[in-house]
Amino acid sequence: MPHPWIADRMAHFDSSGIRKVFDLAAKMKNPINLSIGQPDFDVPTAVQDAAVEAVRGRRNGYSPTQGIGPLREELLARVKREFGREDRDLFITSGTSGGLVLAMLALCNPGDEVIVFDPYFVMYPSLVKLTGAVLRTIDTYPNFGIDVEKVRAAITPKTKAILFNSPANPTGAAIDESTVRDLAKLAAERNVALVSDEIYRAFQYDAPFVSPAKYNPDTIVIDGFSKGYAMTGWRLGFAHGPQAVIQEMAKLQQYTFVCAPQPFQWAGLAALSVDMTPHIDAYRKKRDKLAGGLRAAGYELARPGGAFYAFPKAPWGTATEFVAAAIEKELLVIPGGIFSGRDTHFRISYAAPDEVIDRGLAVLAELAKRK
Ligand code: PMP
Repeated sequence: MPHPWIADRMAHFDSSGIRKVFDLAAKMKNPINLSIGQPDFDVPTAVQDAAVEAVRGRRNGYSPTQGIGPLREELLARVKREFGREDRDLFITSGTSGGLVLAMLALCNPGDEVIVFDPYFVMYPSLVKLTGAVLRTIDTYPNFGIDVEKVRAAITPKTKAILFNSPANPTGAAIDESTVRDLAKLAAERNVALVSDEIYRAFQYDAPFVSPAKYNPDTIVIDGFSKGYAMTGWRLGFAHGPQAVIQEMAKLQQYTFVCAPQPFQWAGLAALSVDMTPHIDAYRKKRDKLAGGLRAAGYELARPGGAFYAFPKAPWGTATEFVAAAIEKELLVIPGGIFSGRDTHFRISYAAPDEVIDRGLAVLAELAKRK
């Protein structure tokens, strides 16, 4: 029983699954950690310098709610160039998470339906339920692609939004351009808000990244600096979309997050002129190494095209049982039930040194033989 003061909405948040994994991990001496959802490279030096300079230069106060002018203007200019639309608006958020919270609160009434693809980023179901909206999941196993006809069939008069994420956490799926186009057009045709979480857009390995905003100008894009520049702790993101929605989200930011941390906004501005492609190229090689190793060991795997995750099927048992066996061998991965209604797959993050990936693969090859 929760404490009598606790609000009913807290029942929508359950951190027990992931906590169990980390409790087990805390007991390990020399873990092979392939569970981390952030890059293993460091923030580029020039960006670190810009953050220090901002702090030393007394840029430590509140910024405008929409963000510091130079960062907002530069991002907005880029967005207008990319989508050729003058009517998009943009503001700086406290991480991609902050943008997602504001989008859901600004869009959803209690009883509205929100479509989410299963497997999903852990935050999505809780965010939807926080607003009183109803979660409608669409199963994407075994390939984690999107069947637009399934989405069409799931839309009801109550559907308010579709939460879309490509490249995706936890599957690494990167949705192809024609599917992105069809989904974007379906949302427009049915007057449903399409919210596109593009935090992994830099980590797309086999084809150029394409945003649904290219085909549906009313797409609400939530993006951020956390993954692309390895600054997850700096809490910097941004959101862009139709002015009417963005203005409401910014208004809500004024009464909640207030603004993103100012020194890191200056650092974000510096980040925009740093070329991160060498890191992306290195991660493509890590993807190849991991996918090749898993295949060779007999794992069933939908080849990931982006982000830094693979989501293979557990070769035996439930994912929970399999991950418990992996953890006994000091390998830390995440059971898929945390991201899904199914407990059959598990998430491997390859945001790790090659030597750690190799050690992880050796344990996985051994575990697969236990069938
Ligand atoms: N969306 C997805 C799909 C993510 O994987 C993450 C981070 N794990 C976030 C959003 C949140 O990112 P941020 O650090 O910008 O809040």
